[in-house]
Amino acid sequence: MTLIKKIFKKRNTPILTTLTITSKNGLHLRPIAKFVNEVKQFNADISFVVDDQEIVATQVPAILSLSLEEGDSFQLKCQGEEALEASAYLTDFFEKMMQEDRVEQEIKQVEDSYEALTIRGKTVAKGIAIATLTLYETRKITQTRDTGLTIKDAIRRAKEELYDLYQANKTQHEAQIFLAQKELISADIFRYECPTVRKFLEIIKEEVARLENTKFASRIPDYRDVEQRVLKHLGMTSIVEVPSKPYILLTKDLLPSEVMNLQNTLIEGVVLQTGTVTSHASILLRSFGIPSMIIKQPLETAQRVILDANSGNLILAPTANDLRKARDKQKQFKAYQEESYKKRFENTKTRDGKTIRVLANISDYKSAREAKEEGADGVGLLRTEFLFKEEKPSFGEQVIAYQKIFKLFNLLTIRTLDIGGDKSLPYINIPKETNPFLGVRGIRFSLLEEVLFKEQLLAIFKAFQMVMPSAKTLKIMFPMISTVEEFNKAKGIALEIAQEHNINLSNIEFGIMIEVPSVIFSMKEFNEVVDFYSVGTNDLTQYIFAIERTHPTLIADSTSPIILSALRMIAQQAEKPISICGELAGLEEVTEELIEMGYENLSLSAKLIPSLKEKIRHV
Ligand code: PEP
Ligand code: MG
Repeated sequence: MTLIKKIFKKRNTPILTTLTITSKNGLHLRPIAKFVNEVKQFNADISFVVDDQEIVATQVPAILSLSLEEGDSFQLKCQGEEALEASAYLTDFFEKMMQEDRVEQEIKQVEDSYEALTIRGKTVAKGIAIATLTLYETRKITQTRDTGLTIKDAIRRAKEELYDLYQANKTQHEAQIFLAQKELISADIFRYECPTVRKFLEIIKEEVARLENTKFASRIPDYRDVEQRVLKHLGMTSIVEVPSKPYILLTKDLLPSEVMNLQNTLIEGVVLQTGTVTSHASILLRSFGIPSMIIKQPLETAQRVILDANSGNLILAPTANDLRKARDKQKQFKAYQEESYKKRFENTKTRDGKTIRVLANISDYKSAREAKEEGADGVGLLRTEFLFKEEKPSFGEQVIAYQKIFKLFNLLTIRTLDIGGDKSLPYINIPKETNPFLGVRGIRFSLLEEVLFKEQLLAIFKAFQMVMPSAKTLKIMFPMISTVEEFNKAKGIALEIAQEHNINLSNIEFGIMIEVPSVIFSMKEFNEVVDFYSVGTNDLTQYIFAIERTHPTLIADSTSPIILSALRMIAQQAEKPISICGELAGLEEVTEELIEMGYENLSLSAKLIPSLKEKIRHV
């Protein structure tokens, strides 16, 4: 290609888009790392512009040092061959990422009181611990062996190690921590400006100093962690003396890697003196179930305390009564957790004997396996979009994917393609709409793209035929139904396909998602034609309040009395089985009310199943 052509091809006018941080956590390390990962796929020069600073959008430390907080804005500058695509994609990605991050992991505390002096704290991970408050020994770094590696090699090894950890834990929330640290160490500053170990340590020191006293100070441990990982490859390891008796750790900061090591010691709990509930160490403490709180006021060590993270209290010099009470609570809490996990495969009955089915929302074979392991009584929502995302799956691929999932459960609800709104398909051109959530979405899309719809229905039928259908029930559910005519048309197409291909429909039912409010006003007619209903509270909430579910600042509350009364109206009018498959189904604060209304099937994320089952046993 000649130089002239090259210049011509490169679009040189930069595209500037203003993006705002809408998460109250600010623009912290995990989202930055996720964003940087996306930036890399485009052939364009992409940067963050804040005031007169311009930072290349792949440089995690530099972006982090901008300390962008909730309400702050920056300009995303995209220039070059794929500037347009990059700008559109990254804007959308950023807004969604903020939306997901917006929900601070507030852990509800249950009020309780003790006789002795009590200090209040913020709960990081639930649980109760009784032990001596012990200060973390300062970390001493010593050269234990000579690995013969250069600093450059050690940085590369650390990067590879973090990437492997990310890949190995990809399905877990914690994996993002490894990705974030990998991006941190991949920055140019470590690549090109680190000829010696000394320089490396200096850079870390400067970056840490930059973050100190900012909202992002809780990310300092990630720098420390990366530092230790690199030093480890140079043969220097940190020595930490951990107590040989059960202890509650009192610490200013905690590195994510330390949490992973501490869980193998006699640790009973953690009191963090700095940090946030969303820091990486906090995420790990929760996932390892180590009772933990953040208490910022100074505390004396070597004293026996009660750490009651369920109620947010640290009890100093507890009385005999306090200790008795804490031990009882501890026993009950442990028993509750163990019980719920042990009994996760059992049927779930309320105290007055009503059976409630706890089902799973899944999206592929992997999540189906997880749901099985967590004790799901079946699948309440199989979102089929996953298969269609990157490129159009062939008919055969669809059959295999459904069949693998169908084999695992006897009760399955599969939802036909729910495209439109915020979900698009790269290979299908949906005309641009001003309000996509009110446009060609769900069943409206399928009825327009009949070839795709028919192929999906046939793939579902064929897959079901291959998995001993006599022992199973398959519910086919249409999304975004707003009128009876739409349902009749969709079911009509399904019956036509079934007849053409000699499909036995005896264990197959047809129903709808209730997510458009118009259905609530026409349930009499729907009762005549559908076999079941499943309420999608995520969309129902968005449409009742007219607040987009992905809106960056407006939030519609699905637990509001308005939504609960809509659910009651649905339950009162429904003459066919009803389920809930929106996020609300997993919120234990409304479980009792939903059951009392008459919902006997609740479908939720797999991880929440054991606990919800136990909750139901106490309703
Ligand atoms: C819902 O809308 O509540 C639902 C379960 O479907 P989705 O979140 O996939 O739109
Ligand atoms: Mg929905």
